[in-house]
Amino acid sequence: MDYKNDIKYRKETLKKLLFNIQKDEDLIIKALYDDFKKPEFEAVLTETNYVVSELKTTIKNINTWAKPQRVFPSLLNFPSSDYIYKEPYGDVLVIAPWNYPFQLALCPLISAVAAGNRVVLKPSELTPHTSAIIAKIIEKSFHINHVEVIQGGIEASEKLLSKRWDYIFFTGSVAVGKIVAKAAAEHLTPVTLELGGKNPCIIDETADLRLAAKRIVWGKFINAGQTCIAPDYILVQKDMKINFITYLIEEIIQAYGKKIQDSPDYARIINTKNWVRLTDMIAPEKVFFGGESDAADLYIAPTLIDEPELDSKIMAEEIFGPVLPILSYESEQDIDVIIPKYEKPLALYIFSENDSFSKKMISRYSFGGGCINDTIIHFSNKRLPFGGVGHSGMGAYHGKLSFDTFTHHKSIVKKANWLDFPMRYAPYKDKLKSIRRLLDWL
Ligand code: NAD
Repeated sequence: MDYKNDIKYRKETLKKLLFNIQKDEDLIIKALYDDFKKPEFEAVLTETNYVVSELKTTIKNINTWAKPQRVFPSLLNFPSSDYIYKEPYGDVLVIAPWNYPFQLALCPLISAVAAGNRVVLKPSELTPHTSAIIAKIIEKSFHINHVEVIQGGIEASEKLLSKRWDYIFFTGSVAVGKIVAKAAAEHLTPVTLELGGKNPCIIDETADLRLAAKRIVWGKFINAGQTCIAPDYILVQKDMKINFITYLIEEIIQAYGKKIQDSPDYARIINTKNWVRLTDMIAPEKVFFGGESDAADLYIAPTLIDEPELDSKIMAEEIFGPVLPILSYESEQDIDVIIPKYEKPLALYIFSENDSFSKKMISRYSFGGGCINDTIIHFSNKRLPFGGVGHSGMGAYHGKLSFDTFTHHKSIVKKANWLDFPMRYAPYKDKLKSIRRLLDWL
């Protein structure tokens, strides 16, 4: 079991993982439903299929990604050949959240394995059914000294963080991200922090309002709004507001019917603590659609909130649930009062037919990533780095970048011996002028 040096071995274990995930897909989908009624369609699209696709891409490319990469040498070092060697960090800790509990645990794990590391995974305690099936699948696919799952809550996580790691990959809240960063700093361990934030969604006067409403409803209420890159609040041009809201309501009903609680396509809030947190944010006098909730069923209806105060509860923190505040703006200056009020978000969305407006918004504000005229879909392109900036995180992954995340890039210059210019060696007397000329020329 030489996972560090034997790429064939890594590939074989990933193939085994692929086989076991495909074999147990029904059990995974059931576990996700048992945890918070995640609809089967969403489970396949955003969890199992996503992981299978990531696995297939990784298995296909692992040989290319892992081999030393030759780069163009510097003329200063002539004659030489230059390489980047791909070295696994060593022992990697992956800590996962509950909202996409399968995908966000497995994707970093797959890349960490591909890159040749030993991996310990701590899935979320809030999705016990999914964490249990993850543990079973990992046990069947890997030797325990190669990949191990440690189940448990905060205590288990704290215990793991008290140990020394060569890399920590954390997905979760900003508050816990800071705890992870502190623990990592103790040993100067590199970290990726995939965190959250308040993601603005701007709709200007040129937007296709009907289509915007459809795409926002999908991106906001998928997983019952418990998505790190879901639009957190809407900023709509004042004159467009009434029409936009009408379309939003129509699209919600079109997607989930009039009895939304009975819809098989609408997930539940993960636990009572979050249900209370979210229902506390809803000021009844500001609700113009939805607002219904059922504690016993952990249900909260898709809810639209009209013009909340900027210092109200709902605008104070990341919502992370099916509640959507709608604020209107008259001018770009109004937008500029609101967005910079919050930490740099993980995502930002712009609905507009005006290219220069979109470009201005993209360059004016710092955020992890986003879309023009859609929501959340930037996540699905493996060629786009996924990650936050500032409080929404550090580091990025997906596709080859995930492999690179778990890899130390070791630079090697292989110098030839058939020629040895005397210029650089002491004594330096009378050489300065010539070296300046040479450096200028290069
Ligand atoms: P969380 O931070 O509460 O928990 C994440 C993980 O950390 C869990 O495994 C948990 O057991 C562990 N943990 C919790 N408290 C801890 C502590 N005190 N010390 C050590 N470990 C601890 O996050 P969550 O509630 O599972 O997920 C929701 C958050 O995650 C949201 O803020 C969301 O935006 C963010 N998120 C980000 C991404 C992303 O890709 N950027 C993806 C999903 C979720």
